Amino acid sequence: MITIFSPDHALHDAPHEFLDGKLIAPHESPIRVRMILEALERADIGPIQSPRAFDLDPIRAVHDNDYLAYLAQAYERWVGAGGDAAAVLPSTLAVRWMSRRSVGPLVAPGYYSFDLSAPIVAGTYRAARAAADAALTGAALLLEGQRLAYALCRPPGHHAGSDLYGGYCYLNNAAIAAHFLGVGSWELADGGRSSQLSTPSSQLPARVAVLDIDFHHGNGTQQIFYERADVLFVSIHADPAREYPYFAGYADERGAGAGAGLNLNFPLEAGVTNARYLAVLEQALAAIADFAPRFLVLSAGFDTFGGDPIGDFALTADAYPLIGQRIAQLGLPTLVVQEGGYAVAALGENATGLLRGLCAM
Ligand SMILES: [Zn+2]
Repeated sequence: MITIFSPDHALHDAPHEFLDGKLIAPHESPIRVRMILEALERADIGPIQSPRAFDLDPIRAVHDNDYLAYLAQAYERWVGAGGDAAAVLPSTLAVRWMSRRSVGPLVAPGYYSFDLSAPIVAGTYRAARAAADAALTGAALLLEGQRLAYALCRPPGHHAGSDLYGGYCYLNNAAIAAHFLGVGSWELADGGRSSQLSTPSSQLPARVAVLDIDFHHGNGTQQIFYERADVLFVSIHADPAREYPYFAGYADERGAGAGAGLNLNFPLEAGVTNARYLAVLEQALAAIADFAPRFLVLSAGFDTFGGDPIGDFALTADAYPLIGQRIAQLGLPTLVVQEGGYAVAALGENATGLLRGLCAM
């Protein structure tokens, strides 16, 4: 199994996040990735590669142009207009009936974000691009015939929508990779003659399933693929009636238009045990098998672990190898994309456990 990792993740190191009415030290910090990387090296689980450098095209396929331009310049423009140099964090959010687009350097953050958990610092955009490149590199490896790759992404991505960031996420690494896998299969089919990202008139993208096993609902991934017939999104997560992201992730959100029926949410109660989780996973995997995708993208968060500071499930370290084994039994080429997980001391063991289980395929 190949891991893709970039040290550029450390360029994103937020000074704080706003949570439960308080400005606190961020749960999402560089040490998370360092802990996983050290555990992978100790476990000798396979080679670790740097990401290839991709241009913006595969990212533009998922995110809006004006959003990407905003992210690339947000910090410099904010500081240039007198914003606090510590980090970009908006005061006013564009919500519901008050959502006119405004691009002033100090107010655009409130247009392009949906919460206050995702500050932007000087290196955030470069780190987010490196994470997207890691996911794209993993997708390219699958297109080249690898069966399993692990993109050790940071910042995570599954809360980022086509034009909104939040929940520690800026670019949706899993969605970018899933789209790339779908259209990238054209290149395989025609021997590389057509562009990966143009649409040959006679061909449809390959089917891709995204399975999100982070503790939180992957609201961004859901939004990006909600009306698409070529991508199935399945998410197992804390019931949003009780947990973040609160305003999406309910079981009755089933997709729309061409994507009707292709969005499947499993919101769960607090205290979920290994046995309960594995039983729900069976239902999720059955839906994926029915869809018969060509590739699987696994949004892997470890905040389902019992000791996680912002989760309330009760999974133990023993769960992750079993989850990996069951997913491996789908027999699909699989790209694992790192999402959340904030019980830092346990992250290495939980990540290597999942990957070892997946390696059983
Ligand atoms: Zn999470």
